[in-house]
Amino acid sequence: MLEDILDYTQHLRQRPVWQPIPNEVKERFVEKLPAQGSELSGLHQRFLTEIMPYSIGNSHPGFMGWVQGGGTPVGMVADMLAAGLNANVGGREQIPIAVEKQIETWMRELFHFPETAHGLFVTGTSLANLIAVLIARTKHLGGQVRRNGIDQASQKLTAYTSTGAHGCVSQAMDLAGFGTTALRQIPVNERFELDIAQLKAAIKADQAAGYTPFLIVGSAGTVDVGAIDDLAALAELAKRENCWFHIDGAYGALGMFSAQIAPKLAGIELADSIAFDFHKWGQVPYDAGYILVRDAADQLATFAAPANYLKRETRGMAAGSPWPCDFGPDLSRGFRALKTWFTIANFGADKLGQIITNTCELAHYLARQIAQHPQLTLMAPVNLNIVCFRHNGNANFSLEQRNAFNAELVIALQESGLVAPSSTTVNQHIVIRAAFVNHRTRQFDVDRLIEATLKLGDELLLTPQFS
Ligand SMILES: *Cc1c(COP(=O)(O)O)cnc(C)c1O
Repeated sequence: MLEDILDYTQHLRQRPVWQPIPNEVKERFVEKLPAQGSELSGLHQRFLTEIMPYSIGNSHPGFMGWVQGGGTPVGMVADMLAAGLNANVGGREQIPIAVEKQIETWMRELFHFPETAHGLFVTGTSLANLIAVLIARTKHLGGQVRRNGIDQASQKLTAYTSTGAHGCVSQAMDLAGFGTTALRQIPVNERFELDIAQLKAAIKADQAAGYTPFLIVGSAGTVDVGAIDDLAALAELAKRENCWFHIDGAYGALGMFSAQIAPKLAGIELADSIAFDFHKWGQVPYDAGYILVRDAADQLATFAAPANYLKRETRGMAAGSPWPCDFGPDLSRGFRALKTWFTIANFGADKLGQIITNTCELAHYLARQIAQHPQLTLMAPVNLNIVCFRHNGNANFSLEQRNAFNAELVIALQESGLVAPSSTTVNQHIVIRAAFVNHRTRQFDVDRLIEATLKLGDELLLTPQFS
């Protein structure tokens, strides 16, 4: 089994990035509960033929859809070791917690956070953002909010982020009980960064109307175009307005590993909390989300809860308090720190930084290629590793026709199995979006994207729908 999966990662390029799943394969997974077990070798055979070929393909060098990491064999084997150990890293006196603490020390160093900072592995940035909103809530309202809940009718708390923020920020406001309307989504400037002047005006207007701002969420690498907000300006404003300053740095924050990208993240060291994913630019296999909080006491005050069955001791297996379960909503937790520790220790910060730099260079290379083809137009400035462009199609196309054409073209590219970009909308235009995250992606794949876009675009223009 190990050999087959290593073989798979080694020969990814010989496979399609993605392919449609045949119905008969889907039907293999609607069987009744098996009373008797079956041979492992037969199940592995099924894995090879029915599962392996039909994943989304984010390990493949031609994958450019959304923002997903490529993983590495090192991370894969480390995850196998973690599964073998089967550690439950919710708490207690065990070295896996020290490994998780080692990552915390490294992240404090990377983000220039103080000794008081605390880091916690979670599934992903979606959950990390929710944790940040909850900490900001408890910080602002005090510990009694944990008993009494939020009364938005009388408390009227407001939070702020840009229109470019990921949808999970709004979802976090919903899940935390504020409601999504309490999140003010401030327009972005021409670089797709949160417009600071409009934010200041919105805060003033809310205060005049009796609202109390309590949270500002900056983005370090927006999901659509890779924009980084003016983090230093947001930090200053948050301080002045007595707001918690959280940064959604899902993929962008680890740009700190790269000497070229780190300067763009200036101000990140001023955040009260940062959410990010090792499973994106960090190349750690899924899932490995992380929340770093400036002051552990704020996180503890939000989540710690006494329970008889979680009694602490100073010696024995129940020593080592406080435990990871005191800092977030999870009690039982897997050993995500191990694959992350192996990845960072094996490659080193410089190599991981070089990978990040390379993905950004691929994006700039693509932008230069787009500029040379009159059929293609760059639709947003390339700040990091994301390129939004469109095929111009037919000169007579209306906006709607051109949008439909580009949406169809993205699907055709995905179905070709050659490259897999995704689509998004930029200023009302549906665009082809190529995000370079995977360490396996090369210039070859960018060339292939251009060639396939032009060729499939030409073919699409001959179909009845678009001719
Ligand atoms: C990916 C992403 C998220 C969501 O992170 P998950 O790990 O998928 O939960 C949030 N914000 C941004 C900017 C992202 O790129």
